[in-house]
Amino acid sequence: MNGAIKGSLYYLCIPCGFIYDPTRGHQDSGLLPGTAWQCVPVNWRCPDCGAMKEDFEAVVFCTPQPEPEAAFSPAHEADEPGTGA
Ligand SMILES: [Zn+2]
Repeated sequence: MNGAIKGSLYYLCIPCGFIYDPTRGHQDSGLLPGTAWQCVPVNWRCPDCGAMKEDFEAVVFCTPQPEPEAAFSPAHEADEPGTGA
């Protein structure tokens, strides 16, 4: 049913690597979940580095991931298998 885009669309901050996920929004800066990039105010800045919208680039992650942000969170690095007793 869906069209050409199979992956999820995100917006990458080129200078710092911050990812904006339209389905999650960014509530810290007043963007409610579901706020499309086109609806993000032009004066919105990257919460991490202050870059403007024009410094962002659309990216598509084609690999299905339940929590895309986890891939960018260093805190999730330590996922030990828990072997031994
Ligand atoms: Zn940034």
